[in-house]
Amino acid sequence: MATLNGIRQFKDEQDYREHFIVQSEIDKYLPGGKHFIDDGYINRTIAEAEARPVDPVRIREIVAKSESTCETLLPEETAALMQVTDPALFEEMRAAADRIKHKVYDNRIVMFAPLYVANPCVNGCRYCGFREGNARQRRRILTMDEVREEIDVLAGRIGHKRLIAVYGEHPKTSTAYIAETIETIYGRQVKAPKSGLPVGIRRVNVNAAPLPVDDLRVLHQVGIGTFQVFQETYNRKLYEQMHPAWSVKGNYDWRTTCFHRCLEAGVDDVGFGVLYGLCDWRYEVLATILHTRDLERWFNIGPHTISFPRLEPASGTRVPEESPWLIDDDTFARILVIMRLSVPYTGMIVTARESPQSRNRVLDHGMTQLDCSSNIAIKGYSDFSDEAHQEKERQQFMLADNRSIDEMVRYLAGRGIITSFCTAGYRCGRTGGCIMDALKTGREGKFCKINAVLTFREWLDDFASPETKAIGDALIEKELAGIKEWVPKFYPSVMKQYEATCRGERDLFF
Ligand code: SAM
Ligand code: SF4
Repeated sequence: MATLNGIRQFKDEQDYREHFIVQSEIDKYLPGGKHFIDDGYINRTIAEAEARPVDPVRIREIVAKSESTCETLLPEETAALMQVTDPALFEEMRAAADRIKHKVYDNRIVMFAPLYVANPCVNGCRYCGFREGNARQRRRILTMDEVREEIDVLAGRIGHKRLIAVYGEHPKTSTAYIAETIETIYGRQVKAPKSGLPVGIRRVNVNAAPLPVDDLRVLHQVGIGTFQVFQETYNRKLYEQMHPAWSVKGNYDWRTTCFHRCLEAGVDDVGFGVLYGLCDWRYEVLATILHTRDLERWFNIGPHTISFPRLEPASGTRVPEESPWLIDDDTFARILVIMRLSVPYTGMIVTARESPQSRNRVLDHGMTQLDCSSNIAIKGYSDFSDEAHQEKERQQFMLADNRSIDEMVRYLAGRGIITSFCTAGYRCGRTGGCIMDALKTGREGKFCKINAVLTFREWLDDFASPETKAIGDALIEKELAGIKEWVPKFYPSVMKQYEATCRGERDLFF
């Protein structure tokens, strides 16, 4: 097989389908052929929890354990939490989830944007508009010039610092292309509209197909942030119904072992997700716990983030409307609380797939990251033609929350929440196992508070409308007073960095 810079090359789609998966890299993490997603055990655990009456004393003990240790719960404990339906007891759980979020991440929400880079795909996922064979979908692969045009809008007009770059699975847009786009994104600097200062993207996370270890090493070298792969469903039977056996994605074991390979390759921030609506949510939540615990067992590292996508209408498929497992907003909110309590240290992402009402509601349910001013059409940010914006078929699915970043920052500030554009943890080595410890002890939350203030200052001066700036300024004043009280000795050096940022220095962090 030919290789280019250590990356295997495939002559066409069929060659890729037949040879891309490296079986030994699956077997290594499933010793004795035993899978860590144990279907029988999950079903038994759910059935046993259902058979026991809810004991509020036990529920409170589980919640207290989560809050005090910040360690992943046992599946049996999570199963017990899933049985709680009493509104008063659930409210206790929600309040604890919010306290944990504050302990670990403080009162900040991290802002990011999706960048859809390429949509050709060799797979046939039945719920996705990008699937091979969907003739209604227009296919597009951004050139590097087009990537730069997208960054000019994302970084230069909107003010984003953190992206999730999204790719279909195709030999033309695999590792070499992903690496080139990441380098192109990092390399682009533009001028901010209000201050004229240079701005750019500081962290590129990737959502792409599972890769082998050597390819992941290449992405590590070009400075990838989090590698995000959604499992879609952990239920093997349903997984096989949704992902045809002829497709690469049809290999359940290749997908479920992806994060093990990431951690082996040094990509130590990994992003979990389930596509809610494909299977019983309780199964998915317990399986997520089993996946987390297996990674912790191998590497002592769990998910850097967990995302909570729900099935959305997409072009050329009825699965999102007809699946028997679709969840309502109340269940969605419950899942967030249960996950915050079950994996207390993880970042939790709720994207603009959700409606504004649903996102506003779950802000105090443990979530930590959201996207805004999002566009998931390929070249959706920089192509302003009418045709482009009316063209539904260029999107993978439909977004529900179309609020601009300025609107969202203002809304969050009104609720006392600081929008963080911070990417410092990643750039000064607080990733993987190192950040896990810092998060569990609450240390990271405090660092991040200071860095959130500095990056919020940058964004307000570089991009905000006068109205948003006024609300943001008031919040920063309050935050600085809080920092002064909390770390009086450290306060002068914080102020030094803060004042330098006000004068136009950029990218200062602790
Ligand atoms: N192609 C890669 C893969 O499938 O892993 C990564 C990109 S894919 C575009 C990103 C995610 O979009 C998928 O993992 C899936 O969870 C989500 N997705 C696909 N169809 C969707 C739909 N109809 N509604 C919501 N999310 C969807
Ligand atoms: Fe391709 Fe990913 Fe869509 Fe599946 S979900 S069809 S792999 S882009």
